[in-house]
Amino acid sequence: MYGAANPRLRPMLDSFFILLQNLPFGLLLAALLLESFIVSKNRREVEPAVLWLLFCAIAASGVVVQAPNLSSLDGFQLATALTSELGLAATVENDANAAAVGEMWRGAARGFRTIVCLTLGTGVGGGIILDGKLWRGVNNSAGEIGHTCVDPFSDVACTCGSRGCLERFASATGIVRMTREAKTRFPDSVWHSAGQFTAADVYQAGVQGDALALEVMQRVGFYLGVALANLVNLLNPEMIVIGGGVANGWNLFADEMRKQVAERAFPVPAAQVKIVRAECGDDAGLLGAARLGFDSIAATDLESRGGFAQKDRSDLEEAVNTGRGRPRPQ
Ligand SMILES: [Zn+2]
Repeated sequence: MYGAANPRLRPMLDSFFILLQNLPFGLLLAALLLESFIVSKNRREVEPAVLWLLFCAIAASGVVVQAPNLSSLDGFQLATALTSELGLAATVENDANAAAVGEMWRGAARGFRTIVCLTLGTGVGGGIILDGKLWRGVNNSAGEIGHTCVDPFSDVACTCGSRGCLERFASATGIVRMTREAKTRFPDSVWHSAGQFTAADVYQAGVQGDALALEVMQRVGFYLGVALANLVNLLNPEMIVIGGGVANGWNLFADEMRKQVAERAFPVPAAQVKIVRAECGDDAGLLGAARLGFDSIAATDLESRGGFAQKDRSDLEEAVNTGRGRPRPQ
């Protein structure tokens, strides 16, 4: 059914199918139910209104305004193209925003209403939920915590055009860069003979006591702590959730991160905020997309038109619940 996809859209659809193939059974079932639900509603000529896709981009009204990691999509009317190709109403959401919704719905922030979620991966994504509502800002560009400045005197350029952004220090690429730059100060370090290596390699070396790796991971904690202290003073959140692959190095950066928050933020909100690891892993974005989809269905008041929306929403939510039975990353 997707064979005639727009050439610019094709890679995104391929990515979506790869995502589906890597889902646990429960979530795969939920996704397929979501698809069949959309199709069945479409056949019954009831206007569908379901969020369909998540990916890394900044979007407004379905138009990709700026996607630093997918720059060929800048200016692309993605929602319109998806609707045209799939015959379904589509909404585009920033992946980090979706992850924040997912963590609040089914992850570490269940039961909380004012949270910040950071995803430390290749870059640093952020999502802000205030009093239960995803905060998108006037231009749908809010929550770009990775591009807040944590070192104004840094000459480290960022993909956004600024310098000294959190993303350049608290991401996987930042860890590799800092390791390469610092190795001249550690003549005995194993990294002098290292060719290609990853942030995970640096973490493993730190676990084994490598001084350079430990310093780099401490710097991650330092810059992350500076950013979190700013967030605590600015937003007074109940919880800050940190996910993404770099969060696996938690035991090597968390102490420094908490130290910076304690030293820099106002005491009362700093003592109140819970800073925890994410629980949904790579599923956070998909769960958040599903939640936003359910909310979108409710907002269109399909039930009053066809009398079936509430039941199908319940079925879909139950399917997502079923997908939660698997172990969470530690
Ligand atoms: Zn930046």
